[in-house]
Amino acid sequence: MHQMIIIGSGPAGYTAAIYAARAGLEPVMFASSVAPGGELMNTTEVENFPGFPEGIQGPDLMQKMQEQAEKFGMKLVFDDVTAVDLAGEVKKVTTSDGTVHEAKTVILSTGSAYRKLGLENEEALTGHGISSCATCDGFFFRDREIAVVGGGDSAMEEAIFLTRFASKVTIIHRREEFRASKIMADRALQHEKIEVLWNTEVHEIHGEGQLTGVTLNNTVNGEKSELAIDGLFVAIGNDPRVSLVEGQLDLTADGTIAVEGRSSRTSLPGVFAAGDVIDPTYRQAITAAASGTAAALDAEHYLSALDN
Ligand code: NAP
Repeated sequence: MHQMIIIGSGPAGYTAAIYAARAGLEPVMFASSVAPGGELMNTTEVENFPGFPEGIQGPDLMQKMQEQAEKFGMKLVFDDVTAVDLAGEVKKVTTSDGTVHEAKTVILSTGSAYRKLGLENEEALTGHGISSCATCDGFFFRDREIAVVGGGDSAMEEAIFLTRFASKVTIIHRREEFRASKIMADRALQHEKIEVLWNTEVHEIHGEGQLTGVTLNNTVNGEKSELAIDGLFVAIGNDPRVSLVEGQLDLTADGTIAVEGRSSRTSLPGVFAAGDVIDPTYRQAITAAASGTAAALDAEHYLSALDN
């Protein structure tokens, strides 16, 4: 039986792994088989992670975190966790091939998933003009006109990045004020290739097999208009990934895993949670990393109490 299983390989998971591995707990991490490394794998330049004054590419930062955790003895498994049974003293984690892995503690650092607009055609045209990842798909839109939906930092970042390829980027935002930080908003607003449509939402998505355009709705007067675009990047935030633990752990009204105060302790003993999956507010790489530290330390205390 393992001392610790960590589910999820973003900054929270890797930081928990670094601390736990250094404490000799030989943690096993299950990283997704298709998208290991978490959200930072989809980011370009990370400018606000302390210690990198020149900035660092998101995937490079994750690579470094992985190396650091492996250096101290973390075992990394690229497999998807399909089920968990967390109630007993022995925690059971099932992976995609049906293998059941046992551990005394589990740290959940499953992060959050891209939110969708929820419109007809959205699913069908995803990958055919609709995307949530500019770094993954921006290249396909060279000299094309595209739009980004959202008013947060993600939308600004996507829009600014996409100006490298697109001839024009339209930001569609449902209010008349961005939620994004001032520095990111200013960069977008000042960019010559970026235009903003305020008080506007996407009403319908058009295209058969390939996106051709959208119908827009003015949120103030209800007026409809058409926008011909080849690409639509949806950057309207994330929802915590809790499907594995729904029904087993208490959740908050925000949909995150409930933890006790500032700790990482969930509603079940021996089960800890860290990163975006417990954080509806800050959701930064550095806050996720800090929360991973708390989870490793909380798990360590729990394990030493078990031994006594
Ligand atoms: P966010 O801050 O939650 O912003 C989501 C945006 O999408 C909001 O402007 C929201 O509009 C809009 N929105 C939500 N649902 C919508 C819907 N159904 N239709 C249309 N618009 C919708 O999410 P985020 O931008 O992904 O950022 C998440 C966190 O990561 C934040 O803490 C952010 O600071 C951080 N982040 C930081 C960086 C960076 O510093 N480089 C980069 C990316 C993300 P309203 O404003 O009207 O609610």
